[in-house]
Amino acid sequence: MRGVETMAQPAGINLLALNELETTAFVRRLGWPSYRTGQILRWLYQRRARTISQMTDLSQADRARLGSEARIGRALACTVFRSADGTRKLILKLEDELEVEAVLIPDDERLTLCVSTQVGCTLDCGFCLTGTMGLKRNLKAHEIIEQVLTAHDHLDPGERLSNMVFMGMGEPLANLAALSEAVCRLTNAKWGLGWSPRRITVSTAGLASKLHEVASLGVNLAISLNATTEEQRARLMPAVHGIASLKTLLSACRRYPLARHRRLTFEYVLLAGVNDREADAKRLVALIRGINCKVNLIPFNPWPGSKYECSDWEQIERFSQIVFDAGYASPVRTPRGRDILAACGQLKSATEKLSARERMALRAMAMVE
Ligand code: SAH
Repeated sequence: MRGVETMAQPAGINLLALNELETTAFVRRLGWPSYRTGQILRWLYQRRARTISQMTDLSQADRARLGSEARIGRALACTVFRSADGTRKLILKLEDELEVEAVLIPDDERLTLCVSTQVGCTLDCGFCLTGTMGLKRNLKAHEIIEQVLTAHDHLDPGERLSNMVFMGMGEPLANLAALSEAVCRLTNAKWGLGWSPRRITVSTAGLASKLHEVASLGVNLAISLNATTEEQRARLMPAVHGIASLKTLLSACRRYPLARHRRLTFEYVLLAGVNDREADAKRLVALIRGINCKVNLIPFNPWPGSKYECSDWEQIERFSQIVFDAGYASPVRTPRGRDILAACGQLKSATEKLSARERMALRAMAMVE
């Protein structure tokens, strides 16, 4: 199922592109009292206003004044794809016409939103479709928040977001300034979205020297390990391995200042015959020994042209059991939204431009797995 909306964009300063301090300065420049800053920010984030005329606790004259200087620069359009399993992929068209994707994933009692931090990705992990795009550009803080605001606009009646994961397109730690500002707007309770940082997880492919910055945001950290030897990691994730070896990454994980009652998450994509054998599982538990963590196992999600295959379920279960027996929770992530290319590692802009042949291949892959 698909829906397209298009919004016209007036000119002026984009209020969403300002942080709290900049909004305060802007309000002061207009000669307005300081409480107006909170009023404007609440309209933007809590009430998701799309036009200044909606800001009805400002007088008509003030709205006219604000409208002559500023605008609310939301995405130009949003296309929604709905998977047979209820997963929804939102493709947002940004002001420069580039596209970025966010995914809504309903589960029994949860509704997780997976958001992107870059158009394309700085890194080149060989199993990830986003990696084949290269980096188009970093997202700005408001373009990250846009994904959340738009997701709210598309919730089914009675639905409520429960978790947020920065596991969409891009490497979040390669865009730290925008990530931090987005987390600030998400977690601010006075005028922002009021999220608890405990419900937010940032996932990194392993920019070791930047891990501690995630700790200062108060959110959860997930690390995509995916390999258990330096050679294997260099082969699967060449760019990030060039930045930090497995050894450097694991020692940064050991030094990570975990808050009380929290643990790290390691993610591990299982690639048939490549990193899913018993020897891999045993090396994995030896590598993470002593780290307070759990291991999320992700069956590989295929995409047109990918050179890896999904492990069979017995192999996945054997792997999971070895990690579990070593004392670590080892849940297997159920593939979601494969039929609309919305599962982990399947995000690439302009899905609607897939050829009919690719679409058929995709449907066939979703059905056989
Ligand atoms: N750059 C960040 C976040 C985006 S990827 C990171 O690497 O963590 C989110 C997760 O999806 C990572 O754990 C990644 O290893 C995994 N992934 C990438 N491609 C995949 C694929 N084709 N199938 C399954 N998981 C994949």
